[in-house]
Amino acid sequence: MLNLVLFGPPGAGKGTQSEKLIEKYKLTHISTGDLFRKHIGEGTELGKTAQKFMDNGNLVPDEIVIRMVDDKIHSNLDSSGFIFDGFPRTIAQAKALDALMQKNNTQINTMLALEVSEEELTKRILNRGKTSGRADDQDIEKIKTRVRVYNGETTPVANYYDEQGKLNTVAGVGSIGEIFNNLSNLVDTQL
Ligand code: AMP
Repeated sequence: MLNLVLFGPPGAGKGTQSEKLIEKYKLTHISTGDLFRKHIGEGTELGKTAQKFMDNGNLVPDEIVIRMVDDKIHSNLDSSGFIFDGFPRTIAQAKALDALMQKNNTQINTMLALEVSEEELTKRILNRGKTSGRADDQDIEKIKTRVRVYNGETTPVANYYDEQGKLNTVAGVGSIGEIFNNLSNLVDTQL
């Protein structure tokens, strides 16, 4: 199995690059943000709970996120690998992911971290908000909260993977194709 963590702040291009990586390496996409939005769309209890946190730009509690990821891995165990997008976002989630991988006799191969300046992120998210319909993409205060939460709670996750020798950073600016080539070159070293 090839298991990747695609890491980076909101607006870094994780969704766009995930789509391309999935196609090239035939991976199963696990985007916790997308899964929550699906639950919200379907009006599930999980969706209702998650929405309260998401609407303000805060993180959904670890326990809820981890259970949802566990379920998703379980229903795709025949996959040739996973790409985790927007997960893990806390150290507790990173530890839980290691345990989930171990339970299934596999591991995270590498973390690919996209780096984009804060100014560029805000611009991109507001632009995406014009078409995404996402409340958290349209309000500058909510975007600021998301970036603050990322800097406070999520950046330590990169150190966690760095300590395991698994962190690879990639500039998230330039053309989509260029960034994808840089990511692919790193993934190829894992094959
Ligand atoms: P995203 O689409 O990845 O930007 O996620 C949108 C929102 O969903 C975030 O601002 C959080 O409220 C929530 N969310 C997504 N993934 C996670 C996660 N791994 N842990 C906690 N909250 C999450």
